[in-house]
Amino acid sequence: MNSDPKNITDAEWRKKLTPEQYHVLREAGTERAFTGQYDKHYDAGEYFCAGCGTQLFTSDAKYNSGCGWPAFTKPSDAEAVAEHRDESFGMIRTEVTCAKCDGHLGHVFPDGPPDQGGLRYCINSASLDFEGEDD
Ligand SMILES: [Zn+2]
Repeated sequence: MNSDPKNITDAEWRKKLTPEQYHVLREAGTERAFTGQYDKHYDAGEYFCAGCGTQLFTSDAKYNSGCGWPAFTKPSDAEAVAEHRDESFGMIRTEVTCAKCDGHLGHVFPDGPPDQGGLRYCINSASLDFEGEDD
């Protein structure tokens, strides 16, 4: 990626992403619970933004929340993600986006493991690309 991903046009995103990735990342969609490829995926490695390739999470912070989506206690770098108040669907939630390309990732909830900061970053698999340590 040579230019700022925030300048990528909608038409370019449609070409670059699969329909599911486009729906989640660019339309703030949510994949169906328990269907994502990284929901029950605990290999050691790093997770990258499926839109722009920025490294977002590591397997060290991933845990089994049972919620149906990949859950992390924290991003690998607080600067890598942006958080926004989201009042859609009659709920007050905190939306998590990729700071670099503004792609929608998921939401963060205050019901994570108390001994690891108490946060649950509930992230769509479709927003992520995984690279294992052994690859
Ligand atoms: Zn991104």
